[in-house]
Order: sequence, then C-alpha cells, then structure tokens
Amino acid sequence: MFHKILIANRGEIAIRVIRACRDLGIRTVAVYSKADRDSLHVRLADEAICIGETPAAESYLNIPSIISAAEIADVDAIHPGYGFLAENPHFAEICESCQIKFIGPKPESVRLAGDKSLARETMRKAKVPVIPGSKGIIGDQAEALRVAKKFGYPVIIKAKAGGGGKGMKIAHNDGKLVNAFLTAQAEAEAAFGDRGVYIEKYMSEPRHIEFQILADRHGSILHLGARDCSVQRRHQKLIEESPAPGLSKRLMKKMGEAAVRAAKAFQYENVGTVEFLVDEEERFYFIEMNTRLQVEHPVTEMITGIDLVKEQIRIAWGQKLAFHQDAVRFNGAAIECRINAEDPDHGFLPSPGKIETLYLPGGPHVRVDSHIYAGYTVSPYYDSLVAKLIAHGKDRLEAIQIMLRALKETTIGPIKTTVPLHEKILNRPRFRQGRVSTNFIESIMGGPSLEPQETRKAG
Ligand code: ADP
Repeated sequence: MFHKILIANRGEIAIRVIRACRDLGIRTVAVYSKADRDSLHVRLADEAICIGETPAAESYLNIPSIISAAEIADVDAIHPGYGFLAENPHFAEICESCQIKFIGPKPESVRLAGDKSLARETMRKAKVPVIPGSKGIIGDQAEALRVAKKFGYPVIIKAKAGGGGKGMKIAHNDGKLVNAFLTAQAEAEAAFGDRGVYIEKYMSEPRHIEFQILADRHGSILHLGARDCSVQRRHQKLIEESPAPGLSKRLMKKMGEAAVRAAKAFQYENVGTVEFLVDEEERFYFIEMNTRLQVEHPVTEMITGIDLVKEQIRIAWGQKLAFHQDAVRFNGAAIECRINAEDPDHGFLPSPGKIETLYLPGGPHVRVDSHIYAGYTVSPYYDSLVAKLIAHGKDRLEAIQIMLRALKETTIGPIKTTVPLHEKILNRPRFRQGRVSTNFIESIMGGPSLEPQETRKAG
C-alpha cells in the first residue's frame, strides 16, 4: 500500500481524505496557501507545506508548486479531492510522468468526459440517451439560431469545458439567444480558456439523478445506486439524498445499467459519477460524467456502508474491488445539506468572515464533514461550503426528521449560512413528499428566475 499521500486540496474534503488515509495507516501531507495557514487540514495532516499565495491560481492550482511539494515530501500518490485540479488531465499526466500516482481515473478518461460536447457523442455511440441538442460546438450566431429553431425554445447554452454553472445561459427566444450565446462564449473563455459552447433543449422542471460509479483497474465496473440532487440554487446542488424518492424500480435498474455503460465508454477507473436529468414521464438523459469524488458522496457511504475514499485509494494502488454488483446493499435513506457561508435572503451573496460562535450537531445517525472551528475565518477567496450535515434514517422521513434535529442544533455565527433555508425546505410538504425538481428553490423563494451565476463551486 502507499506509504504517504499528498492531498492537493483544502477545506472539508482535505480532511475527509486525511481521515481515510489515517484509517488505512497511510501518512498524509497537506498543502496550503498563505490564507490557509491556520486551517484544520494543515493541523490534522502529518506534514504540511505552503504552496503559495492566497489566490487559488497561485497555490491550489499551481501545478509546479504542488509537484515540488510532493517531491520534497517524497509521497507516492496525490489525492486531488474535488474542484481545483481534480478534473485536469494535464495534472494527472504530470503526476504520472513524475512517478506519483494520481488517485483518480486515467488522463484519457478525464479528457474525454471533461469535453462535455465530445462526451455527448461518446454517449450517443454507447446508446446512453442524451438531451436533444447540437452535435458538437456551435460556430456562430447563425448556427445557434438554426439549432434553437430545430429543437424549439427554451434552450440552454453550455460550455464544453463547463463546470459550476459557468458559461451556462438559458434563452427563451431568438432575441435573447444571440446575447446568451455571446455571453456564454465570453464566460467560458474567462473561466476555462476555451470559448467552445453547445446547445441543449432546456428541460422544464427535471430531476437531477446521478449514479455513483466504482471501477477498478481490472475491468470491474459497478454502481452504488442513485442520488437525487434536484434541490439546487442557480443550478448548483444544495441538498442531496439517496435513494432517489418516488422513482420506479424499473427506471432505477435501467439508469444504473446506462450509468455503467457510460463509465465503460469512458474506459473508467476509480470513483466517478454519471449525471442524468429525468422528466415527468421517467425519461432520462445523460448530462455529464464527473471524474472525481463528489461533494455529496457521504449519502452513498451512509446507505451502502462503503467508504468511497478508501476505495479510491485501494483502486489507485491496483487492488481489485472486493465485491460484485449483487453484493451491494442499500440500508435506509440518507440526506446531505450543504451549509454554505451565504445569505439566502440576499441572492445567496457570499458571507465570509470570522466565526465567533460555533456549535456543530451530533447524536445518533448524524455525520458532519467540516473544517471550521470557533475563531476560524471563512475566506472570500475560496468555496463558500463550510460544513456538510448528513443524516441517516431507516427511511426518508426519519432521515428528514434527524436532519431537522441536526439543523436546529447548528449554530454558526455571526456569518450568514444556508441553515435557515434548509430548515424551511425540509418542512415543505412538497419536499417531504419527494416531489422536487431543479426549480424547487426558485418556486419556494418566489424570486425571479435564478440564472446560473459566477459563484464559486465546490464540485
Ligand atoms: P455544471 O457541470 O456546470 O454543473 P451540468 O451540465 O452538470 O453543469 O448541469 C448542472 C445543472 O444545470 C443540472 O443539474 C440542471 O439543474 C441544470 N441543467 C443542465 N442542463 C439542463 C437542461 N438541458 N435542461 C434543464 N436544466 C439543465
């Protein structure tokens, strides 16, 4: 087994990986930017190395700095967490060329899935349904207008290199389309250095359902069931749960098989997620494959009893999966609430600052993944996620009840967080009945349409 792993990340996910390493008896190396000097991941790791200035481009995204740290600390693997360099094929390649194992899929898989337009083609060939839309990149305004006419409004323009909702724009008519197309291109260029965009039919009120994939290097690929991540703000997840409520067994079986087929088409290895949108008639469509650990992985861990980070490390080491699809068991229901330092009453405006008072919940069937402590300052430079609360019940209603108890206990002040919004959502009859779609938050907040905006994203 690996003797030392560097974690090229920060916050709760760096701690999550440190914990898995400790359970496996592996030493850990944290890296940090100057702003994160006093962070918990720095304190919890066996060693810590400063890799640069506060802006992520000069630290957590600085490949030469991270590789130097890995060489100085003499690690044999790097875990990228999520976000930052987790889906950067170039980084994965550099790790391999330095004889450092990248804990994730092969660079070719990251590249293939990371080009969302190419990924759609790969899925078409693998007979996995994709949302109706353009074949490949849209060249100019005239082509955008032609494609929109063919599929009918509304349409959504997406960046081929997309993520975090950046470069994503919805258009309801020809007039809006041209502007949306140009803005999406510009946003994509700024965020990813690639202005390529494609067009999909915009589905009204879909559900976001994704499948957790586990694949070893020896050709074994299986899934660990579905997560429903339909509760979103600006097309970014806020609440995730597993299993997905109210969907037929037949659909779950079909989608699980399609997810495995998708992973095979990407020649997938390690842990990954195949995301779909599902309409009211239970038709499902691939949207993307995330080639990394997801923020919401704990809900799957809670109901399957499988530690996904340990699996990632074992797979990267070359071990075979210890079980087959038939042996995967699902126990009860789990829900995760993302606690972000944001003000839900003011357009989810980031609310960074010093945490003066803090109490995080505990008790039976509650898990908290977090890096904050009393006296910790939430930096405006990074992701706004400050804690993940996860509740596990024998069924969905029990999980909701336990989550409400956990939310009630939670005190994080004086910064604003999403805690009160979560309480509001979990008490809504529509949520309790499991009738949620991606426009749910918008509908309960009664505000204007929440277009995807420049928000910092976890993963
Ligand atoms: P990103 O990688 O930027 O997060 P995704 O393709 O994963 O983008 O989509 C994120 C979310 O945006 C989805 O969960 C869904 O809410 C919304 N979305 C994406 N594509 C469509 C579509 N064609 N129709 C309706 N909603 C969509």
